[in-house]
Amino acid sequence: MNGDCIFCKIIKGDIPSKKIYEDDEVIVFNDIHPLAPVHFMLVPKLHMESLANCSAEHQALLGKMLLLAPKLAAEQGLQGFRTMINTGREGGQEVFHLHVHVFGGGSSLPKT
Ligand code: AMP
Ligand code: ZN
Repeated sequence: MNGDCIFCKIIKGDIPSKKIYEDDEVIVFNDIHPLAPVHFMLVPKLHMESLANCSAEHQALLGKMLLLAPKLAAEQGLQGFRTMINTGREGGQEVFHLHVHVFGGGSSLPKT
């Protein structure tokens, strides 16, 4: 828990979110500025700044989040989806609490 972190505030319930899944380790909510018809983020409840701050002790949690992505994408009606993890300022990260973006539902996602 980091008092200045917007995602920690969402996890605590101090800031509202459009939550689509929650368990004791992970919360998943819609992005406030969606880049596709479906755009949600998987967020660990443990405050970790980024993927670059993870280590072997987080392996199970990271695996759990990745395995949740296709389940939740299917629940949201997606046939396919894109995942993205921005890491560090140079990687386009703006919120420094690890999160996995999931996008889909557009007729075509741009090629990367
Ligand atoms: P990133 O650039 O990967 O750090 O992405 C941060 C994402 O968090 C952006 O897509 C924002 O639109 C999203 N975001 C920021 N504040 C909120 C919020 N209060 N609720 C939902 N999504 C948010
Ligand atoms: Zn946080």
